[in-house]
Amino acid sequence: MTGPETMSKPPEPCPRCNRAGQKVPNKTVRSLVKEEKAVEAGGDARYNICTTPDCQVVYYALDQEGKATGLLFHKKDLRVGVWFKEAHNPEIRDKTPICYCSDLARGEIAQAVRAGCGTIEEVRRFTGANTEGQCLTKNPMGKCCHLVFMEAINELLTPGSENR
Ligand SMILES: [Zn+2]
Repeated sequence: MTGPETMSKPPEPCPRCNRAGQKVPNKTVRSLVKEEKAVEAGGDARYNICTTPDCQVVYYALDQEGKATGLLFHKKDLRVGVWFKEAHNPEIRDKTPICYCSDLARGEIAQAVRAGCGTIEEVRRFTGANTEGQCLTKNPMGKCCHLVFMEAINELLTPGSENR
């Protein structure tokens, strides 16, 4: 799906925080921006997601040469919270999905882990959150949550990580 240019060119940084972002499918952006932003997001622009936790920018558009066009979508422009942009705010973070297909928030995963779950399968069984396969249109990264899900479980299993 990605062209050969991705091998040679460094990723275009976020225009706000100037740190490298990651490619995200156009369809993901169009699916997740709020209604009133739909027209702006409606074109066929390429997008990167800003992965900096404390930057308010989520998506930034790129032109055909891969340069930022100035079109930005911020946290407030999205229908969903972005888990890694809420990491510093436990209250919001715990209500923000980790698994977007199942709408499974970090706080719910924490509950499952406290109840003895240690794997994604166990958490899914415990919470009944079994919807999968809609990552392209539901997950802000446009890809599967499994790695992040595992990391969240491992972090929650670590003694003293119960934050607060
Ligand atoms: Zn940024």
